[in-house]
Amino acid sequence: MAMASRAGLPLEDMEFIQFHPTGICAAKKENENPHGQMLSAFNQSIFPLGMYGSGILITEGSRGEGGRLLNSKGEFFMERYAPIAKDLASRDIVSKAITIEIFEGSTDLTKLLSCIAWNTLVQLREKSFITLGVGHKKDHVYLQLHHLPVETLRTKLPGISHLAWVFAGVNVKKEPIPVIPTMHYNMGGVPTNWRAQVLTRENEEDSMIEGLWAVGETACLSVHGANRLGANSLLELMVFGKAIADQIDCMTRPGERHEDLPATIGEESICRFDATRYAKGCIPVAELREEMQQTMQKFCSVFRTCDVLQRGCREITRLYTCDLPDICVQDQSLIWNTELVEAIELQNMMLACMHTVYAAENRKESRGSHSREDFKERIDEYDYSKPLEGQKKRSFAEHWRKHTLTWARADGSNCFAC
Ligand SMILES: Cc1cc2nc3c(=O)[nH]c(=O)nc-3n(C[C@H](O)[C@H](O)[C@H](O)COP(=O)(O)OP(=O)(O)OC[C@H]3O[C@@H](n4cnc5c(N)ncnc54)[C@H](O)[C@@H]3O)c2cc1C
Repeated sequence: MAMASRAGLPLEDMEFIQFHPTGICAAKKENENPHGQMLSAFNQSIFPLGMYGSGILITEGSRGEGGRLLNSKGEFFMERYAPIAKDLASRDIVSKAITIEIFEGSTDLTKLLSCIAWNTLVQLREKSFITLGVGHKKDHVYLQLHHLPVETLRTKLPGISHLAWVFAGVNVKKEPIPVIPTMHYNMGGVPTNWRAQVLTRENEEDSMIEGLWAVGETACLSVHGANRLGANSLLELMVFGKAIADQIDCMTRPGERHEDLPATIGEESICRFDATRYAKGCIPVAELREEMQQTMQKFCSVFRTCDVLQRGCREITRLYTCDLPDICVQDQSLIWNTELVEAIELQNMMLACMHTVYAAENRKESRGSHSREDFKERIDEYDYSKPLEGQKKRSFAEHWRKHTLTWARADGSNCFAC
């Protein structure tokens, strides 16, 4: 997506992000561990300062087997939000419930969210907002599995037991896993038509980019609409992957020569790569990545309002234009250089974040995974919950049954949505 954006193409529907309710939130610091247990030596070596949001997903199967979500009062809070399904409620309901627990104390979520835009959760607590989040920053909840039989953990959930140990230093047989709703799937991406051919928009019309296709996580084929169903991504890959292969098969012949390319093609990418490799700024990549993560979690998460999103646009633009050019990369080697890979990933993610926040700010309704506290209704050209007879069709400008396109300017200073 970042490559397409840098090439001047728009991205489509970037505001629609599916959250998974239980991403591992934090590697425990020694003083946060209720059992005084040290992190594993392995974990300490990778995350010496502890870690915010590894994002590694804890499968919903863990709640399927009887895992329960807990707040700081030790309450199994899902009973309040989904009395029948409880912890097995759908992803968006559980994600919202966790977020409310963390922000708990006010039913006026809009007011609370606009405060959160300016304060950390710890500061909120000092201002006597009650958060039912857990941990040092009160910014996550627990997923408890230790009430389950050891045999169930061993036979049914061995993978997540291992992940919890490696990424959070948690022994699931004895203690809960710190979790937080985590960005899981992006319904948006590079705009394409139904044949997966990449599109842009010129003079108010769709125009095709010859010889460029996109499919999968990077594309916005729009088959998922505003919220994807589980399993649909792999189907998309197979169906449209084959469609692309068939088209290319029709368009080309074995041995056919590619048109000559300009001699300077790719130079820009090499320059960017070199500038990153020898970056001598002041900000460590890991530090900026964490700030980006927290900014997105705070300003463009499960619940969204105008104030929060506008603040998000400002914050992410500041990180992108001021801090990102000021990163430092200490390792200049070209073999297994994870620092350099992380720096390049950060540049790409930051660009995707820019598109996401601006697109979310722009869409003044709630639809699918895009949930606005200040515009709770979905606004179509008709009100489909009522008989259509007698209804006046809303004009294009008055409804939101349309796609969002965002462009990032070459200098990255601005993103526009239309
Ligand atoms: C934990 C988890 C569970 C999921 N569960 C399901 C599920 O149950 N059902 C379902 O349908 N979907 C599921 N998904 C979503 C689904 O797996 C993804 O949408 C799908 O795998 C995306 O495929 P892709 O080929 O588009 O991207 P990827 O699988 O990410 O492949 C992209 C490839 O491009 C490579 N690459 C990246 N940059 C470059 C570069 N510059 N040059 C060359 N190569 C590059 C990468 O190394 C990678 O191999 C899940 C996703 C996750 C993370």
